[in-house]
Amino acid sequence: MLFDLHCDTIMRIYDDNTALETNDYHISTEKMRKANSLAQFFAMFIDMGEVENPYVTCNEMIDVFEREVALSKYVFKGTAPSDIKPEQITGIITIEEGGVLQGKMENLIHFYQRGVRSIVLTWNYENEIGYPNYQFTHQNKGLKPFGIEVVKKMNELGMIVDTSHLSDAGFYDCIKYSTKPIIASHSNARTVCGHSRNLTDDMILALRDKGGVMGMNFCSAFLDGSKLSKVSSIVEHIKYIKKLAGIEVLAIGTDFDGISCDLEIADISKMDMLVHALEKERFSADEIDKIFYQNALRVYNEVVVD
Ligand SMILES: [Zn+2]
Repeated sequence: MLFDLHCDTIMRIYDDNTALETNDYHISTEKMRKANSLAQFFAMFIDMGEVENPYVTCNEMIDVFEREVALSKYVFKGTAPSDIKPEQITGIITIEEGGVLQGKMENLIHFYQRGVRSIVLTWNYENEIGYPNYQFTHQNKGLKPFGIEVVKKMNELGMIVDTSHLSDAGFYDCIKYSTKPIIASHSNARTVCGHSRNLTDDMILALRDKGGVMGMNFCSAFLDGSKLSKVSSIVEHIKYIKKLAGIEVLAIGTDFDGISCDLEIADISKMDMLVHALEKERFSADEIDKIFYQNALRVYNEVVVD
C-alpha cells in the first residue's frame, strides 16, 4: 500500500479542465489503483505570482477536487483517520501556499471546514506566515507572529504543519511551537544533495524527535541535481536517512504532476520499481511498509482528529 504525501495533480486538472479518473498525468485513479494506493494528499498548489486572488483560486481548486471525487467509484474524500480504509483510496485535501490565508485566522478555519488537513506554510514566496528557503535567501528568518499563531491553531484544529519549502529558521520555529508532529511532505536529505529544498542532518533528527516524517521527493534537482529522476538516487536518500535517523522518519512525497524532469518511475502506477530496488538493498517488507504508508499514517492518525 501507499500513502503519498504530495502531488500537484489537482492543479493540472484545474488548469486543463481534465479528469482524475483517467488522464495522461503522473496520477489518475487508474494509476493509483495499480499502485495499491491507500491515501493521497492532493495539494491545492497556488503560485502567488500567477493568480490574482489566492484565496479564491484555492477555493475553486477544492471545488474541482470535490467534483472529481464525487465522480469517482474508487477515490473518496477523507477528513478523519476513520475515513482511511484499505478497500478504497482516500484523497485528502492539502494546500501548498499559506498565502491563501491572506493573514486571516478565519480563513484557516474556513479551509479546515472545507476539509483541508495539512498546509505547506510557504511556497517560494514570502507570505504572512514566514519565508521560503528559495535559494537560501531567507534561510535564517523564522516564522512571523501570524505564522506562530497559525501553527498553534493548526495543532488545535487537527491539521498537519508541513515545512517543505519553508526557511530553515521557520522549520525550527515549527519544531519549537508545534505541540504535534510536523512533516516535510516532499523534501530529501541536504547532505546527499545540497539543495535548499532538502533538510540538513540536524533538521532530520529534530523532525524524527518530533515524531514527524519527510516524504521522498522524486524531482531530480532534489535527488542528485541531474536531469533524470533515478530510482537509485531515491534509494540513496532513503539509505542515508535510515542510517542517520532510523526508519520511522521516512515517507513518500512524490511531487508527481509538480515536477517536469524525466522519470525512471514514470508515474504512480510504477511504484513497485522502488519496492524492488529497496528489496535489493535488503530492506525488509516491514521497513518498506513503514516508508510507503505506515509512518505517514502514524502522523496522520496522531494529528488529525476523528
Ligand atoms: Zn512543492
